Amino acid sequence: QTIGDNFDATVARFGDREALVHVAQGKRWTYRELQADVDRLARALMAAGVTKGDRVGIWAPNCSEWVLVQYATAKMGAILVNVNPSYRAHELKYVLNQSGISLVFAVSEFKTSNYRGMIEEVRGDCPDLRDAIYFGTPEWEHLLAGADQVSADELAQAQVGLDNHDPINIQYTSGTTGFPKGATLSHRNILNNGFFVGERCDYTEADRVCIPVPFYHCFGMVMGNLACTSHGACMVIPAPGFDPAATLQATQDEQCTSLYGVPTMFIAEWGLPNFADYDLSKVRTGIMAGSPCPAELMKKLIATGIEEMTICYGMTETSPVSTQNRTDDTFEQKVGTVGFVGPHLEIKIIDPVTGETQPRGKSGEFLTKGYSVMLGYWNQDDKTAEAIEDGWMHTGDIGVMDDDGYVQISGRIKDMVIRGGENIYPREIEEFLYTHPDIVDAQVIGVPDQKYGEELCAWIRMRPGAEPITAESLKQFCDGQLAHYKVPRYVELVEEFPMTVTGKVRKVEMREVTSARLG
Ligand code: ATP
Ligand code: MG
Repeated sequence: QTIGDNFDATVARFGDREALVHVAQGKRWTYRELQADVDRLARALMAAGVTKGDRVGIWAPNCSEWVLVQYATAKMGAILVNVNPSYRAHELKYVLNQSGISLVFAVSEFKTSNYRGMIEEVRGDCPDLRDAIYFGTPEWEHLLAGADQVSADELAQAQVGLDNHDPINIQYTSGTTGFPKGATLSHRNILNNGFFVGERCDYTEADRVCIPVPFYHCFGMVMGNLACTSHGACMVIPAPGFDPAATLQATQDEQCTSLYGVPTMFIAEWGLPNFADYDLSKVRTGIMAGSPCPAELMKKLIATGIEEMTICYGMTETSPVSTQNRTDDTFEQKVGTVGFVGPHLEIKIIDPVTGETQPRGKSGEFLTKGYSVMLGYWNQDDKTAEAIEDGWMHTGDIGVMDDDGYVQISGRIKDMVIRGGENIYPREIEEFLYTHPDIVDAQVIGVPDQKYGEELCAWIRMRPGAEPITAESLKQFCDGQLAHYKVPRYVELVEEFPMTVTGKVRKVEMREVTSARLG
């Protein structure tokens, strides 16, 4: 089955049910209405000369057109390239050329930036780029009008000509640790992943899923959109970018049964001064993923009644999810682990130095194998060969598996701090700092040190009005609780952390800032 086939099968079963709601745009579609718009756009793309394997870019925050483009390209076989909406001219040019995009869709206006200007600015340096089309403009209407030149039969034929191993999507990684890489994914990769994620959330056509996470990232388009459309559930888009109040409002008004977010999003929502005013009683489950999920936060969600919240672990290169909780897991299983391996997937843990497989209970690097492993990095065969060995994807993450198969992630190999010969995983210290009543959020990094090689620094966001934490008071707080070498020597009090658009903390940048300050 391809993504298009699966979508059509859902429409055949649940045609009259609601498929998509864009709250900020005030628009809604049933599955049958969505299919009509998707098919029209797919035929329009064919009429415009786009063929199987051509790269079609989309450079936009979450909007309903995003969903149309996602399914229209999947139906006629063009490879959708997700372009991060916060990219600016330089990065845009890189992605346009790296993946050879011939047609790019973009929003007509977006906050303060002038998209039109930026595409025009780089166009001369992008030989493959033939056209840029802005949603809602006369060019967009003109493209859609072209659909009449291609019949439904012709689209059906194009769809039959696709194979589920065909590449259908290029997704750039978040760029947390370096420059983003384009993971090339097939129908089989992401359709299965979306389906199995939905299975673990127990989705049915009765579910309504609030998706404030970006579509340009697999969290939005796979764990969100594909999980919904493969189960007949409804996708609810609260707003173009992330807005905590709009997210909770949409969750309440649209009676959502499931809520998604990276941990920082949930922290922002649950921290709203009028949080108690929102009625979240319909929310049964959801997904928290993307970075370590603090136990304190999970306690708050469960206290709100979202007992079936799940946690996922994965990466863009594995479509993305490798492990997930079950909705009825115990609190300990949810806060202490990232769940267990998904159906038809394998994981193994190896010693990062010797490459030997580790027994249960011993920590090492995580590897994933199975249907979810990407076809490769687009046009970067050397990087692909480094990352995938014998079908096993190297994740660069360190973790351990318990006797029941539940997995714990202690952090990225790249974030590990080696202080005076001790390997320290910042995650453990962060978890402890979250228990401090005045600390809203904390991130721990290693900075260069003459004596120990590296020293620890805690970046801390404090509760407004609280007594500022100093290195000294932090030491007192940790005294008797953490081994002495795990107590952060430096403290940076900040209002915000440097973030990727996917909501991940960029420790690389924090290390640069603190190292520069310390000289
Ligand atoms: P880049 O590869 O460009 O540096 P990135 O790795 O952040 O960026 P993604 O593919 O979006 O790009 O993220 C995957 C990574 O996110 C994983 O390798 C892991 O480090 C982290 N991650 C994902 N889920 C979890 C989780 N539940 N707990 C801890 N870490 C997680
Ligand atoms: Mg990565």
